[in-house]
Amino acid sequence: MKVLDLIDKLHRENDLTKTELIYILDHITETEKEVLFKYSLETKQEYYGDTVYMRGLIEFTNYCVRNCNYCGIRRDQEEAERYRLSKEQIMQCCDQGYWLGYRTFVLQGGEDPFFTDDLLVDIISSIKSRWPDVAVTMSIGERTKDSYKKLKDAGADRYLLRHETANEALYESIHENMKLSSRKSCLYDIREIGFQVGAGFMVGIPGQTNEILAEDLIFLKGLNPHMVGIGPFIPHEKTPLAGTTGGTVEETLVMLALTRLMIPSVLLPSTTALGTLDGKGREKALKVGANVVMPNLSPTNVREKYELYQDKICTGDEAAHCRQCIEGRINSVGFEVDMGRGDHDGWRK
Ligand code: SAH
Repeated sequence: MKVLDLIDKLHRENDLTKTELIYILDHITETEKEVLFKYSLETKQEYYGDTVYMRGLIEFTNYCVRNCNYCGIRRDQEEAERYRLSKEQIMQCCDQGYWLGYRTFVLQGGEDPFFTDDLLVDIISSIKSRWPDVAVTMSIGERTKDSYKKLKDAGADRYLLRHETANEALYESIHENMKLSSRKSCLYDIREIGFQVGAGFMVGIPGQTNEILAEDLIFLKGLNPHMVGIGPFIPHEKTPLAGTTGGTVEETLVMLALTRLMIPSVLLPSTTALGTLDGKGREKALKVGANVVMPNLSPTNVREKYELYQDKICTGDEAAHCRQCIEGRINSVGFEVDMGRGDHDGWRK
């Protein structure tokens, strides 16, 4: 096998076997990466041209009942200063975001039982009735199918639930009392209900191998989600994974490019975690086929508290500043901002 032949095949057929993917990951050289990155960028341009979609991120609660080993807002992280935004505060974030031009709001949080179905339905339907032209994305972890359905019926358009890793043993070793099979069935429920679906994983979790990364790509290919969030794992010192080595920008770029070629029309965010590891990380991701950014709309006084990992960037910046800063970064690498809803092509209401 030759890496370049495999990259060509992936470019032509948008699929490879697990063995072939592992071979690429094990052997790819710097020059071969250039070819991979060229194809992944061209593929993104075929589907989306030079546009990059903007989503306004609202981190509305950092209370969480889960105890994920990597996460800085895990239940047992007693030093995390917990907060919840009220419905009024969430609406204010949206109001400011709408004024700044955002037409997608992503409501993300820990798994917080305070936010019952009724409360979330009220929040979602209030956003949708006040701004009928916006898309609402929820990212609040595992819920019952019935609960997902209520959120959808209230007007939520999309749901992000990273699968985190497609390897069962690794998944279950870093997620106390959680099952990969449950995560997957949530993703299938979300799809069946009619949401635009986002899955995704972290790169560089301790114990992750190239074989496991290949499993992530194969799982994604089968799920065929509308969006895939991929970011480097960044160790947090107040978690069980303190002191471990995290993922790198370089490895993450390879996984972004492979994902773009496996699922050509996918919406692929250039993640904040990349920007945290490298001042130019997000620009680099845009250059290998990412086409979404998610600037922060959370009130500045809670930003530092939503500390999934340390040294998260932009925690002191006003929403208007983030909007301008990201636009400048997008333009600096030759792309243009699209402030529209940015729905996936293959999705119709
Ligand atoms: N509770 C929601 C939202 C989780 S936070 C859910 O379960 O989907 C969003 C994402 O941040 C997670 O899915 C995870 O992939 C990522 N994340 C958490 N801790 C991280 C860390 N230490 N480094 C990098 N990414 C992390």
